[in-house]
Amino acid sequence: MAFGDNLLQLEEPLLRVPCESMRKTFKTAQRVLEKNIELTSATCKSLNKSKKSEDIDMTREAVKENAQQAVAQVDGMILRMQGLKRKMEQIQEEQQTHLATTKARIDFLDKLSDPQMTDMDSDAYKQWSRTRVEMLVADYCLRDGCLKTGLAHCKNLDIEKLVDIDELTECHRIEESLRKDHQITACQAWCQENKQFLKKVRSGLEFEIKLQQFIELARANRKTEAIQYYRQQLVKNYSETHLAVLQQVSALLAFPPDQDVEHYAHFYADERWDSLARMFVETFQDLHGLPTRSALVRYVATGISALKTHSCRVYVEGEEEAPPKKTAKIPRDLSRAHMCPVCSVELRRLAASLPYAMHVTSRLEPDPVVLPNNRIYGLAKLLEYSKRVTGDTDKIVDPVTEETFGAHVYSMVYPT
Ligand SMILES: [Zn+2]
Repeated sequence: MAFGDNLLQLEEPLLRVPCESMRKTFKTAQRVLEKNIELTSATCKSLNKSKKSEDIDMTREAVKENAQQAVAQVDGMILRMQGLKRKMEQIQEEQQTHLATTKARIDFLDKLSDPQMTDMDSDAYKQWSRTRVEMLVADYCLRDGCLKTGLAHCKNLDIEKLVDIDELTECHRIEESLRKDHQITACQAWCQENKQFLKKVRSGLEFEIKLQQFIELARANRKTEAIQYYRQQLVKNYSETHLAVLQQVSALLAFPPDQDVEHYAHFYADERWDSLARMFVETFQDLHGLPTRSALVRYVATGISALKTHSCRVYVEGEEEAPPKKTAKIPRDLSRAHMCPVCSVELRRLAASLPYAMHVTSRLEPDPVVLPNNRIYGLAKLLEYSKRVTGDTDKIVDPVTEETFGAHVYSMVYPT
């Protein structure tokens, strides 16, 4: 297995998202075409029919009227075809964008097959993974609602095609309209646009959105509108599938929120908006093939878990979370917090809820030696480091404390 193969497996969502977008655009094109072909052939048939029904006994006026109707029908067909052409051009443009995105992402992943990328220390890999980290940071910002930061980051580093900007921005916009503004319009339009998908996965999102609209009308005491909405939008479409909820929710007209009746309070609760927003985000991610969580968070969590051992410091609620302010000269901290990322002030809290790694074997250098300061290192690596920093083979430097010793001050260590 080549070096890049494992990495390639992790990057699957990078190609899945534009592929899903292309599939969606293709389906839209297919639907638009089918609908227009159907309507056009129906008009053609009706034209044929009216031609055949003409006979020699018809009056001149009747023939003229027939001809006028036929011309109007042909005009209608031309207009329809012009509209279809415009729509197809727009779809083609969309598809080109998806293709360009896919191409850029394939090119990016193709760098993994570069013969110079042999291991994690190669410059080619370092450069690739630097871009990857920037992509993860941008993705995290966009998912977390820091849109301006995320967009500026993508633009500055020219990684716009490598991050799902359009999808994440749209998702955030609609999610906020539900969660913060308590408005269903944007989500309803999205449901309408993706009706086919919602039907296919049997999503309850559209029903919940409409139910919420009814609840809002009941909350505002707009009873006539609420009854009308209830009949037209809820009973008409959902009486077979959601009858029990519909019966229950109809009582809201009799119990406004200020009466605080326990049985109906959960319908009026603000948390309903949060759960609607969550439901929307899940459906949206499902449609676009977006991972449910930010890859940055996943990788950081995996990394912390891999390093976390039972000897790591446990985070105590309320303890100092931020690193101390930098002063002119920081005394070298030789505590565990300095040596282990999981014990560090920055990561301690994040690590608190994560599982421990299962270390079945301990990793030890093959040639351990102890220095006069009682610190143990692998001899070969220690000599290499010392030579690099001092340029002298007669000295040994402790890489952590930076103490310098003579060449043969160490003793061999024999772990038992
Ligand atoms: Zn630790």
